[in-house]
Amino acid sequence: MSSKSNLSIDITKVTSSKINEVDFNNLTFGSVFTDHMLVCDYKNGAWQKPEIKPYAPFLMDPSSKVFHYGQAIFEGMKAFKDENDSVWLFRPDENYKRFNKSAERMAMAEVDEAIFLDGLQQLLEIDKDWVKKGSGNSLYIRPFMIATGTGVIASPSAEYRFMIILSPASSYYSGEVKVVIAEHYSRAANGGIGAAKAAGNYAGQFYPTALANKEGFQQIIWTDDATHTKLEEAGTMNVFFRIKDTLVTAPTSERILDGITRKSLIAIAEKSGIKVEIRPVFVEELIDGMKSGDLKEIFGAGTAAVVNPIVGFSYKDKYHELPKMEDSFALRLKKVLNDIQYKLAEDTFDWTVKV
Ligand SMILES: *Cc1c(COP(=O)(O)O)cnc(C)c1O
Repeated sequence: MSSKSNLSIDITKVTSSKINEVDFNNLTFGSVFTDHMLVCDYKNGAWQKPEIKPYAPFLMDPSSKVFHYGQAIFEGMKAFKDENDSVWLFRPDENYKRFNKSAERMAMAEVDEAIFLDGLQQLLEIDKDWVKKGSGNSLYIRPFMIATGTGVIASPSAEYRFMIILSPASSYYSGEVKVVIAEHYSRAANGGIGAAKAAGNYAGQFYPTALANKEGFQQIIWTDDATHTKLEEAGTMNVFFRIKDTLVTAPTSERILDGITRKSLIAIAEKSGIKVEIRPVFVEELIDGMKSGDLKEIFGAGTAAVVNPIVGFSYKDKYHELPKMEDSFALRLKKVLNDIQYKLAEDTFDWTVKV
């Protein structure tokens, strides 16, 4: 796949790039940004002409609705550079579709496909030197939208700002991850906004996660809000379990985000002959699986890390340490996905899109 862009954008470039000031060998994830950003405003019922301009702060009215009522959504995606210096996106159409699903749920304006996808292509064309070659290197892409309409009246905004910012990233290593299985707090509820990539979902997670951190755990495995018996997501990632040699993950729902890494790993596993079951997974199965030895792996799945292996979990104040796997599904699947993303293996799924 490849797409050529003819969207008209007002472009103002920086007079001098700050790329030489960046130490690409010591990047903290999400903390350094490229020279340019894309900005597009929605007003009078229409998207205005997008702009690409130098990355910089901007002014907002204190009564902007995003500050008071939280209409804010985002996406997370990556660009990769292959051995021939070509830049590739991974399933960007999926991020675009999910962005507008989130917009609909949050009663926000939906973004035109050309502004999101062609706008991103043009922005990447300008900042492509920031995508570094080599294993683990990528450019993290953060499209987002906020309510910029003014007035402290609790109603959806009539004005929005859509933006894309870019952040160079190197290999993501989070250290050993131990998790707590949620028994009280919830990330999402039926009828709620758990399936949207809404900023507020993250805000609501910070407090229970900080409590878990204090106890020495890095993340929470969220359970269903009604019974706390079904395993749903790990932190801000989808979650997979290996029981014997079967890969098991919960079906997406109103409470579970439809992750692109999740569905890509399912497709890769099925193609590699790994048995996959998409069904509710119960906390009890983990406890039983620890006793019988059938529970082999737990890992989170998301764009930032691809997979995040979990070494153990706590439930009802008892800690269970998972076995150390020689040939883990987590690392095997991660390698296949990374090889497709970096164009080291043939993309038989047609997931990669050239910039
Ligand atoms: C973004 C996100 C994921 C992972 O989605 P990917 O498309 O794989 O990056 C999973 N769970 C939550 C809650 C998320 O916000």
